Formats: sequence, structure tokens, C-alpha cells
Amino acid sequence: MVLPQGFMLTRSSEIAHDVYFLTRGVASLVVTLREGESAEVGMLGNEGMIGSTGLLGSSTPTADCIMQMPGAGFRLPIIEMKRLFEESTEVRTLVLQAIQRELLTISQIAACNRLHNATERLARWLLTAADRAETDSVPLTQEAVAEMLGTRRTTIALVAASLQRSGLIRYHRGHVRVTDYAGLATAACDCYRVIKSMTDCLYSRPPLRPSAACASYHGVVPRPYGSSHYS
Ligand SMILES: [Zn+2]
Repeated sequence: MVLPQGFMLTRSSEIAHDVYFLTRGVASLVVTLREGESAEVGMLGNEGMIGSTGLLGSSTPTADCIMQMPGAGFRLPIIEMKRLFEESTEVRTLVLQAIQRELLTISQIAACNRLHNATERLARWLLTAADRAETDSVPLTQEAVAEMLGTRRTTIALVAASLQRSGLIRYHRGHVRVTDYAGLATAACDCYRVIKSMTDCLYSRPPLRPSAACASYHGVVPRPYGSSHYS
């Protein structure tokens, strides 16, 4: 199915009836407080499943899940997903990996939103979005980025202008293009590398035999930036 920008995949305080698997595009998990302020706590692309909390019980999610960048995907009734989860060891393993990755990402972004500055967070956000969408051009407005990062729009405008002057990105009419991945990765906080390594680790490692990326994630081997296809 086609998933346009802004499409609500799941809503906070509503029990999810479906799960989604993206084939293209990027979705954001966004928490909105009673005062009206909001911030992104997770980002999902074609690597995972959306609506996983519905498999864990009847609790309603605390975050909305919104298509941040348009794309496409499959929708499956959650009752059918539960049946597959119970019957298939392979499906269960993949679903638990997706949930694990989501929980790890949420905890990392929670710390990032509290401890890292706007430049570091914007660079991290742009790189993660580009990775999830598998493109170097991210169709986003400064308003949307400010909402995702829980930051004022004026702050995002200043930071984006600085990154553009440094030759790391170019933005024009609601599109941001990453022009220097290595440079932007240097400007980003370490959360980008941690989140990327977690995703690489969870989806590439054979059971009980950690890959090089896995070893890096767990701090066994320092992994210099540049081992990805963006180097
Ligand atoms: Zn960070």
C-alpha cells in the first residue's frame, strides 16, 4: 500500500489493530506531551515492524507513529501477526529483534535529546533518516525537523545554515541533501554510530557468533567511521 507523508500508522492511546512493514519511506515515533510539545523517540524504515507493542499486550502506545518520509509497505491485521508469532520460531525471532532494536533506539534517543546539542542532533537525525530511506535527499521542512528534535525552528534554521556553510548539506524548498556523509558523521553525536551499529548488529549477526559490527557495538573493537557504504 502507498503510505503518504503524514499518514498515521499507529496512534497514541489507541489500541493498534494492524502492524506495518515498510518497503520504502521513513516513519517516526513521536511523543506529544499534554502541553503540546512533541519530540521524536524513534525512527523506523524498512528494517523493522511497526505496531509491535500490540503483540506485547493490550496496553495502548504512548507515541504516535507517523510517516515522516512518504513510502510504501504492507499491512497485516495484528491478530494474524499474533498467530504467526506463536506458530513460527523464525517469525518470533525476527519480531523480537525488531522490538529489541526499537527499545534500544528509544533509550539512545532519550539520552540524545537530553544531553546533546542541536548541531549534533540535527546531524544525527539527517544521517539516520538518509540511511532509513536509502537516499541522500531527505524531503523535510525545518518545522518538521524542529518538532522531531523538540527544538525551536529558529535554532534549527541557524544550525542548518551552519552545516550548509560547511558544505555538509544543502537545503532548498523542503529538501535536505547530504553532500558530505563523512563530514556530517563527524558533526553528529556518537548516537548516530550507536544506532546504526545496533541496526547492523541485530540484522546481520548469525546467532551466537557476533559479527565485526556486533563486536564494535559491544565495545570490543573500535570501529572507525567509514566502514559503511557512505565512506
Ligand atoms: Zn546524541
